[in-house]
Amino acid sequence: MSCSPSLAPIEVLDSLAGKTLGELQALVADMGEPVFRAQQLHHWIYVKNARTFDEMTNLAKSFREKLAQHFTIGHLELAEKQISSDGTRKYLFRLSDGQLIESVLMHFKDRDGYSICISSQVGCAVDCSFCATGKLGFKRNLTVPEIVDQYLYVQADLGKEVRNIVFMGQGEPLLNYDNLLAAIRLLNQSAEVGMRHITISTSGIIPRISQLAQEKLQLVLAVSLHAPDNDTRNQFMPINKKWPVEQLIQSLQDYIRLCGRRITIEYILLAGINDSREHAHRLGQLTQSLKCNINLIPYNPIGQDYDFKRPSLETIEAFKSRLSRYGKKVTLRMERGTDIDAACGQLANQASLNR
Ligand code: SF4
Repeated sequence: MSCSPSLAPIEVLDSLAGKTLGELQALVADMGEPVFRAQQLHHWIYVKNARTFDEMTNLAKSFREKLAQHFTIGHLELAEKQISSDGTRKYLFRLSDGQLIESVLMHFKDRDGYSICISSQVGCAVDCSFCATGKLGFKRNLTVPEIVDQYLYVQADLGKEVRNIVFMGQGEPLLNYDNLLAAIRLLNQSAEVGMRHITISTSGIIPRISQLAQEKLQLVLAVSLHAPDNDTRNQFMPINKKWPVEQLIQSLQDYIRLCGRRITIEYILLAGINDSREHAHRLGQLTQSLKCNINLIPYNPIGQDYDFKRPSLETIEAFKSRLSRYGKKVTLRMERGTDIDAACGQLANQASLNR
């Protein structure tokens, strides 16, 4: 039994980041303010990217004070920020319940502007063996404000427009489907991020891929295939036992047919596991039926307790060249932020291990 005095729960103010225009209109009406104030609030939060009510200079001071008593603009508290020598920024955020998530801001010379990698869950249940987040286990889904505010916070911190969003941070986005879709709609309609500039990366949750296909959104679906056959994939992606490769390919064919969109196949190269000549040819054959680009990601060694290694440069180049013969566009993902903890789940993992 604890002898410490019980503490009153800390009141968490409601977040305005994450609310739609309609929700802001209802909120403003409840406060006895004219409805056009909602449009102004919406503009300040999503377009002008204000982080404090004081910045909202066309709102009456008394209204701003009332807002500050009851609301915040986002719940994220910065716990740590690292900036790499290549400009990659990694943010570790503490949520109102003390959980930690991360977001990574990257700038690629060959891509249109800045890209942000966003988390969708605290931890992850999918448990891919090569992934730091998998080691955390699943804690909870992120709320819509927690997802949307990663974008707003980082863009405000950068002071420049962030044009691309990839859901490739902590968590399996399609296992937080409703909040993910609500957040994407807000980012698109309110924060004005083009739908074609939003990427969802999934490990292959087939029922949710089918559901997403019905939405017919113009976003990019990226699928972490990482192996061309079940024997190889089962070794490091336990989810493959539930949704094996042939079923996944079938669901991707259906997705492409319904949406008419090209997808991206992600393939992490693990030395001695999925990087052989045979794997390259099997991957080429397997993806023949898909309208897709293939992105090769040499494994990023992230600690002593992992069994995986990055293939040699020679092996990576040979894999790429063999695969390219099958007519798909094959790219090698340039690594960002290698001098900071910029692999998926690394910063949050490090922080939780140190707590
Ligand atoms: S790679 Fe993605 S899906 Fe797999 S454990 Fe990590 S966060 Fe989850």
